[in-house]
Amino acid sequence: MTDCDLVQSVAVATDSALSDRPTVLPRAWRSALALTIPLVVGVVSISGCSATSGHAHATTVQSTTTTTTTTPTTPTTPTTPTTPTTGATTTTTTTTTSEAAPHSLSALHGMVVTIDPGHNGGNFSDPSYIGTLIWNGRENETCDTTGTATASGYTEAQFNFNVAQDLKTDLEAEGASVVLTRTTNTGVGPCVTQRAAIGNNAHSDAAISIHADGGPADGRGFAVLEPVADGVNDAIITPSQELGADVRSSFLAQTTMPISTYDGTDGVAPRDDLAGLNLSTVPKVLIECGNMRNATDAALLVSPAWQAQAAHALSSGITTFLLSRLLSHP
Ligand SMILES: [Zn+2]
Repeated sequence: MTDCDLVQSVAVATDSALSDRPTVLPRAWRSALALTIPLVVGVVSISGCSATSGHAHATTVQSTTTTTTTTPTTPTTPTTPTTPTTGATTTTTTTTTSEAAPHSLSALHGMVVTIDPGHNGGNFSDPSYIGTLIWNGRENETCDTTGTATASGYTEAQFNFNVAQDLKTDLEAEGASVVLTRTTNTGVGPCVTQRAAIGNNAHSDAAISIHADGGPADGRGFAVLEPVADGVNDAIITPSQELGADVRSSFLAQTTMPISTYDGTDGVAPRDDLAGLNLSTVPKVLIECGNMRNATDAALLVSPAWQAQAAHALSSGITTFLLSRLLSHP
């Protein structure tokens, strides 16, 4: 199947999906559609069907140039120019394809994403507050924790905050509205219950908590933590699993962090003990981006360049999820 075939078949499938609202497309279809939407929307005019090979979030602009030439039928020589007599006229149509700047489609316009940078830089200063017991939907847990740190003292709270800032920039460039559960790294809290409420009250189309783990020193890698049904969150289990799958795929493909060697199964860990997941009424996952207690992971986690890479991967996964939802629930 060529790119052209894909665009055409997707256009048909899209029409079908829109006219049959209850239909939820198979997952594989929705992923393919999500990746193709910007291409379908971005083609200004199609003359012939040249390859639209831009990446998923780029605008593809085509321009058509028509050139008319006359080919002489009378042979000429350089030394004896002659006037051509009747000749055949041919018309050549050249279609050129160029990529405009990425993100110009505002593909996520009207969508809300809540980003929850785990912990807070000031949590160390107020143990009584963060130690307050809260109800997490199944049991009591503390309001928050300090989070972990690398062997050299680089805090998880700082890492989480930096990635969240980069992710906010990426998602806003795609047109999304972004809500943060904290806007500095010098405060205390909020409690995990409030973090869940912020995402719920914003009617988020997706929410993500960003963390890095304090695992065994010989363990490496990232894991996506997904909610387990507890009544409150029943309606968001399936979409959260889809969000988790998209985030896991993009993080694996677009960062240098491997799948966790010690947490979850193949990079996914269902968790029923976290307020942020138990109390969510919007699709939500938590990602442990790596293990701060592992020297190899830590070297990546403290790098601003790697943090930006991680944020971009998260943005890609979230975008894939949101565009898939748009098609299955227009
Ligand atoms: Zn954490």
